[in-house]
Amino acid sequence: MTTAVLGGGLSGLTLARLLHERGDAVIVLEAEPEYGGLCRSRTENGFTFDTGGSHIIFSRDREVLSFMRQMIGSNEQQNDRNTKIFYKGGFVKYPFENGLSDLPHEDRFFCISEFVKTLIALEKGELKDPENFRDWIYYTFGKGIAECYMVPYNEKIWKYPAEKMSLHWVDGRIPRPPVDDVIRSAVGIPTEGYTHQSVFSYPLDGGIEALVKAIAKPVEPFIRTGFRITSVRKDGGRWQISNGTDTVEADRIVSTIPVQHLLAALEDVPPEITSACNALVYNSLVCVNIGITGSVPDYSWLYIPDPALGKTNRVSFPSQYSRHVAPDGHAAILAEITHQPGDAVATMSDADLVREVTETLAAMGLVTPEKIVYPSVVRQPVAYVVYDIRYQENIAKVTEYCRSLGIPLVGRFSQFEYLNMDGCIRSVLDFVRQYPA
Ligand SMILES: Cc1cc2nc3c(=O)[nH]c(=O)nc-3n(C[C@H](O)[C@H](O)[C@H](O)COP(=O)(O)OP(=O)(O)OC[C@H]3O[C@@H](n4cnc5c(N)ncnc54)[C@H](O)[C@@H]3O)c2cc1C
Repeated sequence: MTTAVLGGGLSGLTLARLLHERGDAVIVLEAEPEYGGLCRSRTENGFTFDTGGSHIIFSRDREVLSFMRQMIGSNEQQNDRNTKIFYKGGFVKYPFENGLSDLPHEDRFFCISEFVKTLIALEKGELKDPENFRDWIYYTFGKGIAECYMVPYNEKIWKYPAEKMSLHWVDGRIPRPPVDDVIRSAVGIPTEGYTHQSVFSYPLDGGIEALVKAIAKPVEPFIRTGFRITSVRKDGGRWQISNGTDTVEADRIVSTIPVQHLLAALEDVPPEITSACNALVYNSLVCVNIGITGSVPDYSWLYIPDPALGKTNRVSFPSQYSRHVAPDGHAAILAEITHQPGDAVATMSDADLVREVTETLAAMGLVTPEKIVYPSVVRQPVAYVVYDIRYQENIAKVTEYCRSLGIPLVGRFSQFEYLNMDGCIRSVLDFVRQYPA
């Protein structure tokens, strides 16, 4: 029994490894010349950058975290998170609700008084249940935190109106801050939020790709790169997977490629399934990598909610994660710009994108252009799942259809869920446990 794993990103590779370890025959089919998907890294001129945006290793899931850390072994640097939000020219501790004492007085008052008023209204039963992501932000944080940070930042990263986004995904991912913590943070007593991420790991050498390389090692002979799947069909009880010139046969398949790509490769998909799939929303990503002489501030990464500061939504400092990713006397900055497929950012030239980011970094006082010794641009067409208001209805139709064909879906864009690396590995572990040998 051979299982063909469609897609050679973190999910596909972890799946192939676990199946191989228990004795199953596997083949991984990956479109790109290199495997790794969003978890790839590139080293040029002595700088190593993650090509799918800046990645760190963290998780609440102990089994998964220990798997990831075991994979990178001694190639690990552990770091304390020191993340800020760039707000009105200053640096506010992240998460925002734990950094209220860093705000200008008026904004601090606005945030705390609206938070308290919202809690009182909630206690009195005066608040109606939120129906969309925007309502949920106001309901959870109050008008102050909503308008100073949560709404502008979320609209900047999702490129989607918050009132048209679903709220089913926020539970657990964005917790309601304990009232004591919010008041403590407003009066300047240090508090921590998102504590499962306050210490994180990163590979010393090789960027985040070192993680997928370690996972893939035992199955490397079974990975076929440069194989862009264009057709998937069943013939005589066996699956035929083709890239247009070659066909690979398998007894079973598991898909980790985006559902949009899978459906495009299937025959006779009913029109209502195709339209549900086409209605799923996702964002693309541009990464602008900047190598500089000298140093960067002692931050892990910065969120930039202010639209006036340009298109960049987040800036990371990979040379703070690992001392090996920039040459001596140099530092690395990775700017991320999310965008909708085919929009104005998609058609900007690399030179214009570098200029855009350089201006933002200069306006933030982070770096002056003459210090830049290395710029590069990487584009990821499929980067973020966007949970629009009709998401649950659409994804249910698509998933059910694939299930009816006997094609399990595992991974971020296959399940079409906002899964981080730990969520992908969790999905794989759970899948393998119930997958007959
Ligand atoms: C900006 C950004 C930052 C992130 N930061 C973190 C972080 O700090 N920590 C964390 O845990 N997670 C992070 N993530 C999430 C993490 O990148 C994903 O969870 C993970 O990489 C998803 O792996 P995957 O294998 O499911 O999908 P992918 O990596 O997308 O892999 C899918 C693979 O399928 C291949 N493929 C597609 N179509 C075809 C086809 N037709 N034929 C063959 N192959 C095909 C693709 O080339 C790709 O290799 C981040 C994501 C982004 C966008």
